[in-house]
This record gives sequence, C-alpha cells and structure tokens, in this order.
Amino acid sequence: MSRILVVEDELHLAEGLRFNLEAEGYQVEVVETGEAALERLLPGAARFDVVVLDVMLPGKDGFSVMRELRQAGQFIPTLMLTARGHAEDILQGFEAGADDYLTKPFELAILIARIRGLLRRREWLAAAIPAAPRLEEGDTFTFGDKSVRFDLLELHVRDQVFPLTLMEANLLRFLIQREGKPVPRKSMLEEVWGLHEDTDTRAIDNFIVRLRRYIEPDPTKPRHLLTVRGVGYRFVAAPAGEE
Ligand code: CA
Repeated sequence: MSRILVVEDELHLAEGLRFNLEAEGYQVEVVETGEAALERLLPGAARFDVVVLDVMLPGKDGFSVMRELRQAGQFIPTLMLTARGHAEDILQGFEAGADDYLTKPFELAILIARIRGLLRRREWLAAAIPAAPRLEEGDTFTFGDKSVRFDLLELHVRDQVFPLTLMEANLLRFLIQREGKPVPRKSMLEEVWGLHEDTDTRAIDNFIVRLRRYIEPDPTKPRHLLTVRGVGYRFVAAPAGEE
C-alpha cells in the first residue's frame, strides 16, 4: 500500500484529503508544519511514497521544505499545492525540486490522478534500476563525456552522477530534442511546464544555471547550453573544436 504524507496546516482541507485518499486505498499521514514534514522525511525516518506539500505553511514554507529535502538527497516524488494565479509560485516550486503541482482550489479527482502519475513514475524508476545495463533506445542521451539517463533521472559526467528532478530532465530532453535550434523561453514554459499564463519567463534561467553547473566544465562560458539573446536557449551536443 502506498503511503502519502500530506503537509497542510488547514485542518479542514487536510482531513478532507486524508478521508478521500484513504478511500482510494492509500495510507495517509498528515503534518501541519514544514518542520514536522522534514522530520518525517529526512533520512532514517519513515518511508513514504509521495508527498503532497502545501506552499503556505506557518514557519518554514513549502518552498524551503522542498529545497531542504532535495539538498539532503531526499528525492521522494512531491506534488506542491500553490495558490491560483501565482505562476511564479509554480516555477519557484519546480526550482525548489517539486515534481508536479496543483493550484488551489483543485478537483479531488485531479489530485488523485496526479498522485497516481507520480507513483507510476516511481515504479518505473524502481523497475529500471536492476535492469540498468539493458537500456532502451531513447532513454539515454550521450554527448561527449556526459550522458543523460532519462530512465533514472541522472546525469553522468565522467565518474560523477548528478540526480535530476523530473522538471530538469524534461527541460533537458526538450532542448536536446531541438538540438542546434534556438528554443524560445515561452515554448519551454508552455510545453515543459504546461504554463500558458503570462509568466515571467526569466524564471527558466535558474533551471538553466543549475543544468550548466552539471554539464559545463566552465558554467560561465557555456558550450552546450547556449543563451540566445532575446529568445531563449540552444542546446549544442558537440561544440566546434571539442573532441
Ligand atoms: Ca496552508
């Protein structure tokens, strides 16, 4: 049985979620603060399969919780609950390491579908690990001494391995699929994040900065993830002059 940690201080909503998720056959634990969520999720604590994390919490907010979990190497699938009409919140959530989001108020059926999606991905990943040598075409992209393992959400650079969030992997895949072509920020936002709102697209830049830290030997002089001034970014697999 899958276990879900719900981090939500509005008791009415939290109990409604518990009731409905339990009716779906999940085991649910509710905590009301970010601090309590960290205690429950940091290494050595109980095992959960998915986290539903509200942004607005007393004390430590959802963004800080998300960031601290990822920094601690806790990559549990996490769905963030953000306020409607705050596209910046959504991007900030993804930047912090969230895998998915819903804006409040949301339809319960959608929340359950999103949770199922996250659990399914987790199962795929778990299934992929023992079968690591048997790679399916398209799940790995290799360029130079780097390879992106989309099946494992990992970026391998020589003997180093960097874990990627789903969003980082999706963004990288999106750029790789358009190798050599300038990709506008707006299309990244729409097609990777599914955001159609009039969002400050510069938020994407933070994702690029992080990916550059993994990929580029000198992130200040990028050779693979190039800025296209006034447009967006361009991925180059084999920069001129590189073996
Ligand atoms: Ca709240």
